[in-house]
Amino acid sequence: NTFAEIDLGDALNENIRRCKYVRPTPVQRHAIPIVIGGRDLMACAQTGSGKTAAFCFPIISGILKSRPPQRPRARTAFPLALILSPTRELSVQVSDCFGFILGAIVYFVLVSYMIFFVSQIHEEAKKFAYQTGVKACVAYGGAPIHQQLRELERGVDILVATPGRLMDLLERARVSLQMVNYLALDEADRMLDMGFEPQIRKIVEQMDMPPRGVRQTMLFSATFPKEIQ
Ligand code: AMP
Repeated sequence: NTFAEIDLGDALNENIRRCKYVRPTPVQRHAIPIVIGGRDLMACAQTGSGKTAAFCFPIISGILKSRPPQRPRARTAFPLALILSPTRELSVQVSDCFGFILGAIVYFVLVSYMIFFVSQIHEEAKKFAYQTGVKACVAYGGAPIHQQLRELERGVDILVATPGRLMDLLERARVSLQMVNYLALDEADRMLDMGFEPQIRKIVEQMDMPPRGVRQTMLFSATFPKEIQ
C-alpha cells in the first residue's frame, strides 16, 4: 500500500517522497512489482492513471541496481532504457501555406502540442532520477536535431523518443540499442493509429540483434484490440 513496501531502493524512494507521492495508484501497485520481478508487462492504463511512474520507477530502480556509475562520452549513445511515445512529427512546412509570420506561429503551437507527450515523460523521468546519476534525454521530431545530438553525446541512460526521430538517430548511428534492457511502449494504441507500427517493428528488430542481452518489455495502452495484443 506504500512505495516503501516495494523494493525500489533508497535513492528513488527519497525522490518519490520529494514528489509527495504517498500511495501507489492502482496501475503502479500492480505493474511495478511485476517489472521489478523481471517479467514483461501489458497494462491497460489511461493518461492520468500514473502510468509514467509505473514504467519509470522500475526502470530507474533496475538501472541503479545494475549499472556501473561511469557513462563514457561518445559519438554513439548507448541507452539502457528506451521509452517510445507517440507524437506525430510535422511533415508539411506550415509556413508554405500561411505566409511566414502566421506560419511560424501555427508551427510553434503545433510543435508545442506535438512534443507535449514526450516532453512530459522526460520531465517526470528527470524528477524521479534526481541526484541518482541516472540521466534521461528526449528526442522528438519537428525540432532541430543538433541540440538533441549534443545532449545525447553527453551520455544517456533513459532515452524518451518518438519512433520517427529515433529511426533518424539510428540511421545516423548516433544511437545504438544494443544495451537496452528496458523497453516501454507508451500509448501503444495511439502509436498504431498513427501508423508507427513499421518503425516500431524496425526499432525492436535492432534490439534483438546479437549480442542480445536480457530485455524487459512494457506495453501501456488505453485500449486492447487484437492488433495491440
Ligand atoms: P500520468 O498518468 O503518468 O500522466 O500521471 C498523471 C499525474 O498523476 C501526474 O501529474 C503525476 O505526477 C501524478 N501521479 C502519478 N503517480 C502518483 C502517485 N502515486 N501519487 C500522486 N500523484 C501521482
